[in-house]
Amino acid sequence: MIYYKTNEEIELMRESNLLVSKTLAYIAGLLKVGENGKNIDKKAEMFIRDHGGIPAFKGYRGFPSTLCMSLNDAVVHGIPTDRAFRETDSVSIDCGVLLNGFYGDAAFSFAFREVKEDVRTLLRVTRESLLKGIEAARPGNRVGDISYAIQHYCEKQHGYGVVRELVGHGVGKSLHEDPEVPNFGLKGKGPLLKEGMVLAIEPMVNLGNKAVKQMDDGWTILTRDGKASAHFEHSVAVKTDGPDILSDHSFVDEAVKKNEELVNISINF
Ligand code: MG
Ligand code: MG
Repeated sequence: MIYYKTNEEIELMRESNLLVSKTLAYIAGLLKVGENGKNIDKKAEMFIRDHGGIPAFKGYRGFPSTLCMSLNDAVVHGIPTDRAFRETDSVSIDCGVLLNGFYGDAAFSFAFREVKEDVRTLLRVTRESLLKGIEAARPGNRVGDISYAIQHYCEKQHGYGVVRELVGHGVGKSLHEDPEVPNFGLKGKGPLLKEGMVLAIEPMVNLGNKAVKQMDDGWTILTRDGKASAHFEHSVAVKTDGPDILSDHSFVDEAVKKNEELVNISINF
């Protein structure tokens, strides 16, 4: 069942997603070589609670942390650990909060300063593919139009592997609502997009093959071939005049530019 949101509810969701975006920007300032994910996770939880929110992932089906933190060949759902960051790491950070009864959900992949060029390109292309998917999120289109835009750009134009097992989703009073929003599919197929839908669109893209496996921690999803993966996510409202992006990566970009240990993953839009 798809829940359509009123404009008032969409504005509440913008607040939730603003807190997610500011948390991701705060994290961007904390990412240093030698620092570890566990410390950052604790700080992120405090930041969210100090701003009146509740971490959405902590306790969700038993997930132990505020953030999903997925390093290098980890795709998504990584658990923050005390393993120190290295200058060659890439790290995807997914953050969700509950604020005013609505969930916000967004993710960003960061690159430390010595990350290889091919991985930087993967991050940039994945981020671009998210915007290409969002462009298709308009009334009268179908979910498949979003899926196709992402898959075509990543696989056909760049030769990457788009993960099949995990997908985007509706978001609102629940973290995961209908419809599912796969990152692969066919134009003109799937549920019709209508005004008031809010979708978490989140391409998960592998440098190599699309195949993934689950780690024995029961959570972390890894690429099977051990090559890098990237993940970017926005929560997007479908409005009459087109997509309205409720989360905001520009805060994150500003924080990344101020952090000399990170590479700025700029996008060509
Ligand atoms: Mg997310
Ligand atoms: Mg999501």
